[in-house]
Amino acid sequence: MNKLSDRNGLNLTQVPVLNRLLLWNGFPYVFQFIFLVVFIILVIMGWNLYAPEGVHNRLFAQTNMVNLLVWGIWWPLMVLTAILFGRLWCMICPLEMVSNFSERLSRKLGVRQKKLNRWVRSGAILLAFYALVHLLIAGIELHRIPAYTSIFLIGLLTLTAVTGFLFSDRAFCRGFCPVGLLLNVYGRGSMLAVRPRSSDACSNCTGKDCVMACNRFKPDARSCPSLLNPAALKDNSDCLLCGQCIKSCGPGNMALYLRRPFHPDDRRESMAPWILTMFIMLISGYVTFRMTGGWTWARVIFLWTPEQFVSLFSLEAYYGWIRGIWMLFVFPVLIWTLMGGLVQVFTMESMGTIWRRLALPLVIVFAAAHLAEGISKLSDWAGYLPYALRAPDGVDVALMVTDGSMPVPDPLLSQATVSVLALFLLLVASWFSVREFRLANPEYARTYLLPKLAFTGMFLYIAFGWGAGLLFGF
Ligand code: SF4
Ligand code: SF4
Ligand code: SF4
Repeated sequence: MNKLSDRNGLNLTQVPVLNRLLLWNGFPYVFQFIFLVVFIILVIMGWNLYAPEGVHNRLFAQTNMVNLLVWGIWWPLMVLTAILFGRLWCMICPLEMVSNFSERLSRKLGVRQKKLNRWVRSGAILLAFYALVHLLIAGIELHRIPAYTSIFLIGLLTLTAVTGFLFSDRAFCRGFCPVGLLLNVYGRGSMLAVRPRSSDACSNCTGKDCVMACNRFKPDARSCPSLLNPAALKDNSDCLLCGQCIKSCGPGNMALYLRRPFHPDDRRESMAPWILTMFIMLISGYVTFRMTGGWTWARVIFLWTPEQFVSLFSLEAYYGWIRGIWMLFVFPVLIWTLMGGLVQVFTMESMGTIWRRLALPLVIVFAAAHLAEGISKLSDWAGYLPYALRAPDGVDVALMVTDGSMPVPDPLLSQATVSVLALFLLLVASWFSVREFRLANPEYARTYLLPKLAFTGMFLYIAFGWGAGLLFGF
C-alpha cells in the first residue's frame, strides 16, 4: 500500500478518484476542448461589438459577457490560481491543445519543424508580448472593447497554430505565450507540483519513458512535451502540470503533490536571469498602477508625471500610450534605481546585480498586490454577471445604468473588507519574500532588507488607503 503523504507533501495521485482522472487518456484533452469551445464562443460574441453611443467603455466592459469573463473574472482567477497552484491553468489551457494539434498536423504533412533558438527560449518574446498586451490595454482599451478582445483572442489562436506548425516541442508555451512569464514567476511557491516520489527509483530506472524521444509523438502518455527532465524537477517555473510524465512513467514514480507553499526542497536562484528581472520590474509598475486605482489620491500622485508631460507637449491624444510607457518602463526603472541605491549604501555590487538579486523575492510581494487588486476588481465586476448571463451583449444594461434607470450593482465585498484582505495578503507575502531572499542569498539578507521593506511599505500604504481614503473622502 503506497503512502498518501511523503516528504514531498500529500500525494494526490494516491487519491483513487484523482488517480483515475490523471491516468485517464481523455485527460486533460476533454477539459482543454471544453475551454476551446468557450474561447471560440467568446470570439464570436465579441466580434465587431463596441460600446453603444453615450456609454463609457469601462461600464460596457463590465456589462458585456466577453470582457467580463476574460478580463474581469478569468484574469484575476488566473493570478489567484498561479500564486496558489502554479500553472494549474496550463493543465487545461485550450491553446496548448491547439499547439499540440497543429504540431502533429505539421509533422503529418512532412514539414521540417524548427527548434526554438536560445534567444526565443530565454523568454524575450514572452516579455515583449506581455508588455505589448499591457500597452494595448493602456493605449486602445483592449480590455474594455469586446471587438478588440475578440481580435486579440483570434490573434492568440492564430499565433498558437502558426508557431505549433513551424516549431517543435510545445513552442508556443515555451517561447510565445503572453502569460508564460507571469505563470513562471507567480507560480514558484505553488502548492501543487509534479515530482518524482523517489529519486532512487529514477536512478535505477532503465526505461526513462518520461524523457525518451520516441515517446514524444505518442497520442498520450508522452515523454515531457516541454523537454523538461521530470525526474530532476526542482521548481515549478516551466512545468505545465500536464500530467504526461505521470502517465508515461513505467514504474509509476511520478506524482502530483499538494504541498506547503515554497517547499524547502525546491531550488532557489540567488539571481534571476535578466529577462525575468526585466519582467518583474515591468510587473512592479503595472501592479503599482493597478493598486492606485482604489485610492484617488494615490492615483493622482502616480499619474502626475505623465499628465504633466502630456500637457507640456500637448499630447492629449496619446495620453493612454504615454501612461502605459510610464507605468511599464519609466516608473519601474526610477523606483528600482532608487531601491538599488538604498542597497548600494551598504555594498559595492552593481545596480544590475542588485536588481537581479531582488527580483524573485520581490515578485512574491507584487503577486500579492496583484491578487489583492484582482479580488477588488472581481468584487466590483461580479455583480454584473447575472445580467450578462441573461443578456450577454450587455447593451441594454449599459444604457440603463448610464441613464440612471438601473442602479450600479453592489460589489460583493465592501471596500474596507478588500482593504483588510489586501493588508493581510501583503504582510504574508512580505514574510515569504524576506524568507526566500534569506534562503537564496544568506550572506546578503541584512543588506537587502531595506528595499524589500520599502516596496512592501508602499503597497501596504496604498492598500490601507483603499479603506481609509473611502472613509475620510480623499
Ligand atoms: S504557457 Fe500559455 S499557452 Fe501554454 S498552457 Fe500555459 S497559458 Fe496555455
Ligand atoms: S520514467 Fe519514471 S522512474 Fe524512470 S526516470 Fe522517468 S520519472 Fe524516474
Ligand atoms: S514535467 Fe511532467 S507535468 Fe511537467 S510539463 Fe513535463 S510532462 Fe508535463
